[in-house]
Amino acid sequence: MALTTVRVALRVRPFNEKELKETHQTENLITFVPGQPQQISIDQDRRHFTFDYVYPSHKSQADVYQSCIQPLFDQFVSGYNATILAYGQTGSGKTYSMGTSTTADFSSEHVGIVPRFADNLFRWIKCQPDTSNTQYCVKVSFLELYNEDIIDLLSANNKNAAITIRENANGNITWSGVQEEPIQGAADLLSCLSRGSTARTTASTDMNASSSRSHAIFSVSLTQHMQVAVENNDTIAKTLESKFHFVDLAGSERVLYYYPTSTAKEGISINSGLLALGNVISALGDESRRQQQHIPYRNSKLTRLLQDSLGGNSQTLMLACVSPADTNANETLSTLKYANRAKNITNTVVLNQQ
Ligand code: ADP
Repeated sequence: MALTTVRVALRVRPFNEKELKETHQTENLITFVPGQPQQISIDQDRRHFTFDYVYPSHKSQADVYQSCIQPLFDQFVSGYNATILAYGQTGSGKTYSMGTSTTADFSSEHVGIVPRFADNLFRWIKCQPDTSNTQYCVKVSFLELYNEDIIDLLSANNKNAAITIRENANGNITWSGVQEEPIQGAADLLSCLSRGSTARTTASTDMNASSSRSHAIFSVSLTQHMQVAVENNDTIAKTLESKFHFVDLAGSERVLYYYPTSTAKEGISINSGLLALGNVISALGDESRRQQQHIPYRNSKLTRLLQDSLGGNSQTLMLACVSPADTNANETLSTLKYANRAKNITNTVVLNQQ
């Protein structure tokens, strides 16, 4: 058992054409501190933040994968759970970074985290020495959460999926009733990703909603059955079981809303899942609430599904995505604050071995 904190990476995307037209200042809203690669400042240097990783807009998809995803991959294949949560306003680069869109060109330098992970995983399996007769079993599932409805994107009958969520003795959250597809290679994994992404677009259109308001959880599970040599030329059976959640969260932008009792316009989050996630993050950062185990996981399906990723048995990375433009300054500051709070979470990581 080991304690580890949630890591936070900040990624600033390049200006888009609209921002270049609208903004007078093509300087980054965010300033990178020379000699301090993990620090940034915003608000004309009035506020400073430090993250585990900081990626200015020129950093490539390969740079991001190598520095902050590869360590999680290494843990995953050693039998530990991992989670990446992509957080930020709509258009800030969450889907681009995760590589979960249907239109991704899987051979280009723009290819994102999940396709790189697929390639990495099957190359790794191929390179393993055959000494332990290990059998590898890879499965994927793909869920979308829209408000409190769960859509199973890999199941034909996917609306309002009846999913049961339980916690086992290892502190792992298990989901039953979810369609899991066995995967034989990287191409297979990508075809499930693409099938689910298409279903996500269709489901959003059917519900007359934008997919930027829903959360997507693409999960890969790896089971390694092996025979380990012990004394007297004997062998014992050992199984490692780990899972990796890739979570593309709903757009974090707040909407302007008139409260019935007030004439003032207030910015509120329209997404109950994100609100619940924020409350869980705050509670986990508060020592006394954590000790009393007053963590409101049950307030939303998102936080219940991801309970072990936050304060539980997982190595977790929050990838906070922001726009470089001053026209998005409020949303960017709110993303930085949200991500900053996530740094206070400690997870308890256990090797999933039987
Ligand atoms: P989100 O998922 O947060 O709504 P997207 O990932 O769809 O945002 O990004 C919005 C647009 O910006 C897309 O056209 C995407 O290709 C582009 N984009 C985002 N991040 C980058 C980046 N780091 N480099 C190049 N283009 C990017």
